[in-house]
Amino acid sequence: MNYRSATGSDGHIPNFAQKRVLLLRMIRAAQPVTRSEISKRLDIDKSLITEIVKPLIKAGILREAMTADSADGRPARALSFADSKDYFIGMNIGVRQSQVGVMTLNGEITDEIDFETPSDPGAALSMAREEILSIYENNIGRRLRAIGVSVPGMTDAARRELVYAPNLGWKNIKIADGLLIDPAVPVVVETDATAAAMYEACVRIGQSRDGRMPNFVLVRSGTGIGAGLVIGGEVFRGGDEMGMAGEFGHMTIVAGGKPCACGNRGCWEKYASAASAASLYLGDRPPARGESVPRFVEIVSKAENGDVRSRRTLEKIGDYLGIGVANVIMTVGIPRVIISGRLVYGWKFIKDPMNEAIRRSIIGKTKGWSVEAGEPIGSAIGGALEVATEDFLLTL
Ligand SMILES: [Zn+2]
Repeated sequence: MNYRSATGSDGHIPNFAQKRVLLLRMIRAAQPVTRSEISKRLDIDKSLITEIVKPLIKAGILREAMTADSADGRPARALSFADSKDYFIGMNIGVRQSQVGVMTLNGEITDEIDFETPSDPGAALSMAREEILSIYENNIGRRLRAIGVSVPGMTDAARRELVYAPNLGWKNIKIADGLLIDPAVPVVVETDATAAAMYEACVRIGQSRDGRMPNFVLVRSGTGIGAGLVIGGEVFRGGDEMGMAGEFGHMTIVAGGKPCACGNRGCWEKYASAASAASLYLGDRPPARGESVPRFVEIVSKAENGDVRSRRTLEKIGDYLGIGVANVIMTVGIPRVIISGRLVYGWKFIKDPMNEAIRRSIIGKTKGWSVEAGEPIGSAIGGALEVATEDFLLTL
């Protein structure tokens, strides 16, 4: 187990390599950003910044250009990643929909394709490979640095295989081997909740004003529920044997409750995922003849138009979400939670009953807990691209 953060929030003083990674993340998240701003935000010496960025500017990875200083509006030189030939591919494999996207190091997403995820893993992989190959062939002359893949299930410790995705029924899928198109381009496979947590960590490092790095639990609620843990700005992946730090979606929340794809009954994700809204809406009966199973976004839009049943459905989800969030906070001892995934589209209806449920728990009697909504893109292509760029930053 490795709880050590790169950031010193646990009292451990970051070494040079860790400061370097932090600095690069800060530039990515806050670019263009001046050296004095970085020094202030990360609480590191300007001389150290110079030592780190100088060779990277020379190598054409970073660039420094004039911009208006955020403090006084006067012109100042600011650092950003060069709009170079380097690019990244991110792929989010969802239970229903998958996305492929292309991003440069300066954060511009230039391409995004959506496709329906085939239920057969072999077919899904070859479709994904085709999409990646066509991007690769359309970008001859540029350099693909890494491919990041987010998947709805556990990955192996080497982050090359999908070990188990209950909602897809996939087991032991060699994703990295299947998507390898050039031996020089690494393929990194990450659990979707962890990828979303990496995305939100980067956003929050960019907002840091005092060198303090974020600690939070990310709960990703879409077709299922997963969780990612960020301690001192770094994601925590659990022990070497299993990347299971985030299998909270399968904690039992209702004894003898609804059957889950994992084999258990009453799992949290059967009550608080975006996908659970349909059965809550229908009152746990199969749809009547001619009645379609409503999609989550449809329920949200009905609620927005004043439909009471839709509103109650979302409030019920909020209640179950809050019960689980309180359990998560109790288990990991981190009082800050970010909710990510499709569920955030219904946030305004979910938020209050969720907070109410947390207040009923013992966590509600303590101070300092907070639950906020993350950015929708982080749980989709944003997280996958974050996995790819993070992998590259570590090689610089
Ligand atoms: Zn389950």
